Amino acid sequence: MNSYCYKLWLPLTIVTFGSVFYFLTISEFTVNWLLVFVTWFLIGPVGIGAGFHRYFSHRQYKTYRPIELALAFLGSLAGYAPLAMWCSSHIYHHRNSDSSDDITSPHQYGFWESFLFWRLRPIALEKVDTLNFATRSIFKDKKLVFLIKNYYRIFWIFGLISFLLGPTYFLSLFLIPVQLEHLRLNMIGSFAHMKLPTSYRNFESQSLHDRSYNNVILGYLTFGFGWHNNHHHNERSSSLMVRWWEVDIEGLVCKLISKKD
Ligand SMILES: [Zn+2]
Ligand SMILES: [Zn+2]
Repeated sequence: MNSYCYKLWLPLTIVTFGSVFYFLTISEFTVNWLLVFVTWFLIGPVGIGAGFHRYFSHRQYKTYRPIELALAFLGSLAGYAPLAMWCSSHIYHHRNSDSSDDITSPHQYGFWESFLFWRLRPIALEKVDTLNFATRSIFKDKKLVFLIKNYYRIFWIFGLISFLLGPTYFLSLFLIPVQLEHLRLNMIGSFAHMKLPTSYRNFESQSLHDRSYNNVILGYLTFGFGWHNNHHHNERSSSLMVRWWEVDIEGLVCKLISKKD
């Protein structure tokens, strides 16, 4: 286990199961599904997708300073990983896709390791030490370092505020959106590297090992992140749309917030 596991994942899992049990058996509850969707969209496709992934990891586009900070903050609320750890492990995945060095590969380590458990291993944190161009520029930025240092505090304050607002907000603003985003990212890590009935490739691998696929269901469910073979083929492109049906909502967000030269 790494520190992320006991500082965030384990307590979040306990709180989630406890809340599900409480609300299903003891208390009546309502969920505001519009709030769930808006919050999920902001912390997930915007914060993690357009922010942690496409901006901070791949520098696919340029944006304004307040938007850059907003992306880093929103992505941190998803509770998936601190900014530098997210970028570092993601770039490591690109460089070593589906080789024995890729700890997220379902081909090397099996489905469950790829879907979830790799994140809880100590090695997942060590990847932050693999300083690359993305993490180097992050660690030079005092405001981003502040977000990383206070990552767990910020996440749990978000949870506490939603809890104090009442059960509907606790579920709709915090628990459900966060768990949906974790599910979205876990599905990409595993299913987008597996040959399934709905998966296909537009491009053959540039590396020996890479087995990334586009997946029709995943592409739509994940707001465009699931056109994964397109992304592995050209990681610098801010749009993952190659064929007309490959709608890339995250790519549209990037376009909307990008700074024109
Ligand atoms: Zn991949
Ligand atoms: Zn990527």
